[in-house]
Amino acid sequence: MNKPRFYNRLSIRQKIISIILAITIISTIVGFTIELFSNIRASRVELYNNTTLDAKLIADYLIPTFLFDDKPGAKDILKKLVNMPTIIYGAAYKTDGSLYAEYISSGTVDSSKSMPEFLQSNENKNALLIKEPVRSKDEVLGSVLLIASTEIIHEKTKDHIKIILVILANSILVSLFLALWLERIISKPILKLATVTRKIQNTLDYSVRVTKESHDETGVLYDGFNDMLQSIQASKKKRDLAQKKLQEERENLEIRVLERTKELNAAKEKAEESDKLKSSFLANMSHEIRTPLNAILGFSALIRDPAITAGELEEYCKMMETSGNDLINLIDDILDISRIEANQIKINFEEISVATLAEEVFSTFKQSFYSDNPNNNVTPILTAPTEKAVYVLYTDPHRLKQILLNILNNAKKFTFEGSIEFCYFANEAKTQLIFSIKDTGIGIAKDQQEKIYDRFTKVADIKTKHYRGTGLGLSIALKLTQLLNGVISLESELNVGSEFYLTFPLTKVLSSLPVTPHILRDESLAFLSGKLILIVEDVEYNYRYLEIVLSKNQDVRLLWAKNGNEAVDLCLNNKDINIVLMDIQLPEMNGLEATQLIKSKNKDLPVIAVTAYAASSDIQEALNAGCDDIIIKPINRNELLVKMAEFI
Ligand code: ADP
Repeated sequence: MNKPRFYNRLSIRQKIISIILAITIISTIVGFTIELFSNIRASRVELYNNTTLDAKLIADYLIPTFLFDDKPGAKDILKKLVNMPTIIYGAAYKTDGSLYAEYISSGTVDSSKSMPEFLQSNENKNALLIKEPVRSKDEVLGSVLLIASTEIIHEKTKDHIKIILVILANSILVSLFLALWLERIISKPILKLATVTRKIQNTLDYSVRVTKESHDETGVLYDGFNDMLQSIQASKKKRDLAQKKLQEERENLEIRVLERTKELNAAKEKAEESDKLKSSFLANMSHEIRTPLNAILGFSALIRDPAITAGELEEYCKMMETSGNDLINLIDDILDISRIEANQIKINFEEISVATLAEEVFSTFKQSFYSDNPNNNVTPILTAPTEKAVYVLYTDPHRLKQILLNILNNAKKFTFEGSIEFCYFANEAKTQLIFSIKDTGIGIAKDQQEKIYDRFTKVADIKTKHYRGTGLGLSIALKLTQLLNGVISLESELNVGSEFYLTFPLTKVLSSLPVTPHILRDESLAFLSGKLILIVEDVEYNYRYLEIVLSKNQDVRLLWAKNGNEAVDLCLNNKDINIVLMDIQLPEMNGLEATQLIKSKNKDLPVIAVTAYAASSDIQEALNAGCDDIIIKPINRNELLVKMAEFI
């Protein structure tokens, strides 16, 4: 890199002053030098002219002296040269060149020297020699030589130079003063700009602006500088914003990455957990399905034995029935959990009497409780509030019963002595209705109590005893409770017992009971006498079952259609059919289409759908097609007869 030159290191102020001074000095010197030389030249010309004139005059004066050969006179005339201070030597020569008379200025010329010596000496080498002829008319009488000293010119020149130097010194001083004053006009705005630039450099504050004071080039520079600052400020603002955004994005990204990592870890743990659960679920499911199937198949083989006693037959059938019910419950649980997961559970809210519902639930529970284990050491207790008031809930009774029976059945499963107490009561403000199911069973350890609501989770110690179940019941109960706007909670102590609470918003409290309980009654078959019943069923053993149940009344008449078309034809050809039991899934024409056709011809003919489709949407579809009621397979004999009796 080139080293900065000397003037590059100077400040602008110093540069301006130096330039002004240099210009002043150079122009003064040049000017005065020219003037000096022209002066010298003029002096020389003047000296020449004067000396020539003097020589001419002297030549004129010398004419008589030559004519009359008056040497002393000639000398006197030459002496007059004393009045000419510049003439240092004068001489008159004859035509033959001999000296006629001479004059030597005193003190100027060393008298010891002869004229030729003098002329050759250094002191007078600049002397001016003027020679003029002495003429009388046209005759040359001789000549005059005048030597003028140029010393006077030198003296004058020296004086001149001194004056020039004084003037030069003065003009330097004046121009220095002027430069100092004038440079501010130029350097001040530039220095101001430099100060502002330095300030911006230190503070990085681009909002600073320089105030324009003149409209010359510095004014333009200021405008340009301000414009530049403005655009820098704008782009800095943009950059700051972008940086801020970038920073925020980075932070957000970090947070998001952390969250995602957490989520991924959680998902991984969940996946591992569900993998474990899946394996245990499959093992469990296999067990839960095979156990009742084993009983059903095993006992169905045993009942074929001709030597079997009536007591044994009753016992085996009972076991087959219980196992079949277990299987149904298992399938219901699996279907329910699938519907819950798919958000397809339909809740049908209606106002119900809590007392009626509690009695129905307790009666169902007690029935299964004693039939499952007649020699039980556990006492089921129903405790209703002592007050007369009737509590009304706005709920889905079917789902509420399912939840309560689930928790009661758990209590039955995990309690071996003591009691299972089912009670309900309202809170003091009568805003909430609480069901409580308290048992004196094995209890649940505190750290396990959260887990029991997870799908497929069983927490009971299986080392001592294997408890049947899929780990789905409480998961379904929790979801259904939430769908019914309720809350489920638990208090439990290991080896002491558990108490589940279900809390629902209480709709109203009535003073008397307006709701008529709907209790299943075991109907006799008398109502079937002389009736013609059309059974629409494609599977033979399903038809056979219905035939056996209904033929207990020997006066009943049955018709069998194996598909929808046959059913429609039979209905058209037999006007005395009293009721139709219609399977939904049929070959050729399905049960819904057949029902629609039958109803379009005879809308008063009761049709009861008998279907394995248990979803509420299926039920609704059947009702929409014109079915008067629905019985879900597997058919409960009691339910079938009650429903048929209702329509015949
Ligand atoms: P399942 O009863 O089919 O195993 P649940 O979801 O109904 O599934 O119950 C989950 C687990 O909670 C049960 O396996 C059992 O370990 C525990 N549990 C539920 N109710 C009780 C109870 N009353 N006493 C003791 N343990 C219970």
